[in-house]
Amino acid sequence: MRELAARQTTGPAPVGVAILGATGSIGASTLDVIARHPAQFRVAALTAQTKVAELAALCVQHRPQLAVIGDPTREAALRAALVHAGLPTRVRSGVDGLLEAASCEGAAVVVAAIVGAAGLLPTIGAARCGKRLLLANKEAIVCAGSLLLDAVRSGGATLLPLDSEHNAIHQCLAGAASHAGVRRLILTASGGPFRACRDFSAVTPEQACAHPNWRMGRKISVDSATLMNKGLEVIEASWLFGFARAQIDVIVHPQSVVHSMVEFGDGSVLAQLGTPDMRTPIAYALGFPERIESGSERLDFLRMSALTFEEPDLTRFPCLGLAYRALEAGPTASIVLNASNELAVEAFLARRLPFTAIAAVIAEALSAPSPAAPGSVDEVLEIDALARRQAKWVIARLATAGAR
Ligand code: NAD
Ligand code: MG
Repeated sequence: MRELAARQTTGPAPVGVAILGATGSIGASTLDVIARHPAQFRVAALTAQTKVAELAALCVQHRPQLAVIGDPTREAALRAALVHAGLPTRVRSGVDGLLEAASCEGAAVVVAAIVGAAGLLPTIGAARCGKRLLLANKEAIVCAGSLLLDAVRSGGATLLPLDSEHNAIHQCLAGAASHAGVRRLILTASGGPFRACRDFSAVTPEQACAHPNWRMGRKISVDSATLMNKGLEVIEASWLFGFARAQIDVIVHPQSVVHSMVEFGDGSVLAQLGTPDMRTPIAYALGFPERIESGSERLDFLRMSALTFEEPDLTRFPCLGLAYRALEAGPTASIVLNASNELAVEAFLARRLPFTAIAAVIAEALSAPSPAAPGSVDEVLEIDALARRQAKWVIARLATAGAR
């Protein structure tokens, strides 16, 4: 880590960065930060799932050595686009291609920014290869927390969270000699677009994706609207920092200025503040332990409105309570929670399910008897696949009932 920092400040060769999920919101913010520091960073590999034209345009701009398209049927189209642009970029596809990007020799840093459990294998792959792993893909750690941390340890990787709350907590814990003096972690939540909503019956995907403070991909936007995002983040925090549910609290803070806090036994509370811009946590993790420019707007205390805090409402937002239940029930329940949520959100975005059915699908999935805790990544994937099959039946039933 020290060596990486030294190279960033003094060495001639820029550090290679692989971005898994480059065409997404986190991918775009990461590329923006990297472009501000051409002497320190260069793009080594880029991946996307389906958007060939967007990925090809990013390759023209950033000239990576490797480009990967997740959907194998689009590999030929990507290759043709890059040949047409006169680029020597190697082209790969599918899960093997994603794993190649995650282990790419030219990249010391891997940004895990694929959405959903689809990012699990490449994220673990990067950890096994000893990369500096910048984790945005919270679903990977929710599904396979202990296996991912094992891979980080055995591979000699460095794990740095990009999720703004966890990044804030990482900053607040930076000076703590141990976690013994920590009383609790306090994750802040904006409350999403429906913080004041009482009737969710007519909520549309467009309304759910219109987040008041952050511009994000559609899946995480819906998760923010149901508060499942905060639930996944409580599970993520529990793995990342090694605290049980009882020591992790959620508090609604609509202004999204305080990104999270740590309360210590002596009564001190440390908070990290900033404008809501993911380039700040990304720059923190890229530059760590140095601080580098992110391009985000500065916080203006004199123009800032009041900072307010509220208790989350678990009755109107049952997904948060379901995530607490899953964390307490153990690792298998977290996989089931995540898989059923992914499918329910997809069905809501496709207008097959109403907003309120998302929690119903997850509650039913969690009530099924769950298999033993997974001992390997293959077992995680098996539990995930089973949970998806079960969630599909529930969704089909609820969708048919709703159409009647
Ligand atoms: P997004 O939908 O904007 O982008 C997702 C990226 O993943 C795209 O590049 C897409 O091509 C790729 N992808 C999608 N499905 C894939 C698959 N099956 N296989 C391989 N690649 C696939 O999402 P986002 O908002 O950038 O979020 C990415 C991750 O970061 C999520 O896990 C999210 O929870 C997390 N995160 C995002 C933000 C944010 O501000 N956007 C903040 C914190 C955490
Ligand atoms: Mg977050």
